[in-house]
Amino acid sequence: MNLHHDKHLQTYVDNLNAALANYPEYQNWTLERLILNANWLPEAIRTPVKHNAGGVYNHNFFFANMSPTAGRAPTGELEEKISQAFGGYDEFKKKFKAAALDVFGSGYAWLTADRDGNLKIIQTHNQDTPITSNLIPIMCIDVWEHAYYLKHYNKRTDYIDDWFAVANPDRASRNYAAATGK
Ligand code: MN
Repeated sequence: MNLHHDKHLQTYVDNLNAALANYPEYQNWTLERLILNANWLPEAIRTPVKHNAGGVYNHNFFFANMSPTAGRAPTGELEEKISQAFGGYDEFKKKFKAAALDVFGSGYAWLTADRDGNLKIIQTHNQDTPITSNLIPIMCIDVWEHAYYLKHYNKRTDYIDDWFAVANPDRASRNYAAATGK
């Protein structure tokens, strides 16, 4: 996790800053604004901004949604919605794990909400984000090999199980509350 945070995430930050170095007009844009408008940026920086703003956004989200004291199920509104959508937190974990295992190559599995608060598990590839599909992120797991190879070798399944022990339900509940305006 230290290497992932201090080196991999930092590389995305450095590369995004480098891409924008000669474009001061975009330097105060939020990550969300850069991601959502990447296709309208000058062609020279379109791809690096898309990859690296996405990389910073996704990693910030991933790291913010873990806590050493986590590991329990969400409560409140999110717990209810998970029960309705998936048949309980344990069933949700099975489906989320299956989605994370099934990401081919590099990417993420996400729990997202639409604007009406409906939950949906999705996958994104490389550093694509849910926000370009108008979905609001609730929780995510990074399943790039760099996320688990040092500790879990090729065993993505063991990494996902370990990750559930630190996935922060309070943060996910707050994300859901913010997404639905409650
Ligand atoms: Mn990563």
